[in-house]
Amino acid sequence: MNNRDLKIIFTALKGYVETSYGILLSDQPLHRTNAPDGQESVGTLDGKHIYAGNWGDDNMQFTFLNFFHLVGHTIQWHFPDRFSYAYQGQTLNAREFGLLDHRGLSVKEGSEVYRYEMDAWRISLGILEQSGVLQQHSDLTCWISQRAAGDMEYLNDLYSGRETRLHSEYRPQEFPLLKPMRVPRVGEFHAFVLGEARGAFTKAALQP
Ligand SMILES: [Zn+2]
Repeated sequence: MNNRDLKIIFTALKGYVETSYGILLSDQPLHRTNAPDGQESVGTLDGKHIYAGNWGDDNMQFTFLNFFHLVGHTIQWHFPDRFSYAYQGQTLNAREFGLLDHRGLSVKEGSEVYRYEMDAWRISLGILEQSGVLQQHSDLTCWISQRAAGDMEYLNDLYSGRETRLHSEYRPQEFPLLKPMRVPRVGEFHAFVLGEARGAFTKAALQP
């Protein structure tokens, strides 16, 4: 995907989630240090806002993916009945699950972390489908699917305590093609009590 297309898709995504879901995307820089590996976070969500600064041509792809993925998690957090995940014999809603410390958990296909992460990617794909953007970019689903699979490899290293490589180096050649997941729109989106925000990506991952 080239930067020009990504910018167009991002603008459509931003407009759609702001109008249909009331989720605000901000490109203000972050000053948080709550990422799992202790590094400065570059993407934070609190259920209403998504902060993913550093928008610019140099890291357009990463910033796009950051926003894209966090939109999925934010929407997931608003539907506790629909999105729940097992953890140590309990059933947690997406927000509770997302706020866990994931270190040491399995991220293999079929695991709860895998499902939690893939649901987020699929929700954002669903939004692009609902808004008609996905249909205009035939290679977008494949591109996102590869990046999602790469992010799982990155998280696998991160949560296993291994040293992580640059995010852009995680590019698996084989990956499942994600199916867009549709979620309710305006009027069905519940008010949400803002909680402690959580960083989702780290600066190390951002380096080109
Ligand atoms: Zn995630």
